[in-house]
Amino acid sequence: MPKSATVLHREPPSAARLVAPYDRAAIEALVARYGSPLLLVDCDVIRDRYRRLQAALPGVELHYALKPLPDAAVVAALKGIGGRFDLASGGEVELVRAAGVPPEHCIHTHPIKRDVDIREALRYGVRTFVADNVDELGKFVRHRRRAGVMLRVAFSAEDAVVDLSRKFGCEPEAVPELLSVARRLGVEITGLSFHVGSQTPTPAMHVRAIEACGRMIAAARAAGHGALSILDIGGGFPADYREPAMPIEAFCAPIRAALAALPPGLRVLAEPGRYIAAPAGTAVATVMGRALRDGRWWFYLDDGLYGSYSGQLFDHMRYPVAALRTDGPRVPAVLTGPTCDSIDVIDDNLELPLLEAGDLVVGREMGAYTAACATDFNFFRRARVVAVNVEADDANGVTVGAR
Ligand SMILES: *Cc1c(COP(=O)(O)O)cnc(C)c1O
Repeated sequence: MPKSATVLHREPPSAARLVAPYDRAAIEALVARYGSPLLLVDCDVIRDRYRRLQAALPGVELHYALKPLPDAAVVAALKGIGGRFDLASGGEVELVRAAGVPPEHCIHTHPIKRDVDIREALRYGVRTFVADNVDELGKFVRHRRRAGVMLRVAFSAEDAVVDLSRKFGCEPEAVPELLSVARRLGVEITGLSFHVGSQTPTPAMHVRAIEACGRMIAAARAAGHGALSILDIGGGFPADYREPAMPIEAFCAPIRAALAALPPGLRVLAEPGRYIAAPAGTAVATVMGRALRDGRWWFYLDDGLYGSYSGQLFDHMRYPVAALRTDGPRVPAVLTGPTCDSIDVIDDNLELPLLEAGDLVVGREMGAYTAACATDFNFFRRARVVAVNVEADDANGVTVGAR
């Protein structure tokens, strides 16, 4: 079950709201109050990113994929603007259930499930699932009156930073056979889905996959395979790290054009995770000690590669890191995590002020695939998640406009 240890930092109504990028005094006050290390999650940013992607993809139902930042405050913030959710495990089902999200706003997209996973999601009320092979379709025979299944097809962008089609998805050529098997089994195939890979630099593969799925859906309908009424275009929408990504409006323009050419009567879904979560997270760590080695200053932090910075290993991202203080001359610097392992180095080629024990270091764009894959290795406590700007400052929901 998800541990929801997130602290909701509710400012008194009179206090100025925090704004991103956080100012130094606000970060120092949060560390004084909640300790270190922290992962600050800005719910305003979560809402803004969901709305911005919604505006770039009008008519597409955005299901936030919980995986990059499975956090109760994030779920509440998105629920508050009518957001929808993409779930992949029993723990994620539990998190949205506890938040009171209507189950019809959720889909379950793990292609490989145990029966208990399917039953848990069904008991909550989820009706849309994903499968990519014959065995998996067989698991839905006993649930066929309550569950619809999207077939996940493999399309991978060679340039995506994280490939998600090596492990999941059937070959496009296998779709007709799977449709026939599903018909024999009496399992309803409601549509197709794909995920071209995470942090995709260009929308080229989304476009090719949409076009290919459009042809497959038209062919399936012509062959009498029911309605196939859903196309789920997955995630992959890129966030800014040390290098800015393509602006989301430009990224989505060719996707919109491809969607406009689809056969009529399709519901289009997307499963954005990183795009929404990444810029909402700010990691705050404290210098524990320092040493001068070979002409470089080594600063040892209380968070590192086994903690919030684990995304550098698992997710292959490099985050913009900086000292909170900006005074004094710069020195050649190495930033490390606290553990006694020598791979636990965040960056060995920085220029930083001469820090001392107690100084704070801030990592930005750290909401996605960071705290979610942190460990407690060496018994160093992982960062405490503190949600800020929890209450929306306006009541505008998200509307799904015409595509
Ligand atoms: C991880 C994942 C996502 C989210 O992908 P992002 O690239 O973070 O947007 C969406 N759907 C599925 C099925 C996933 O596994």
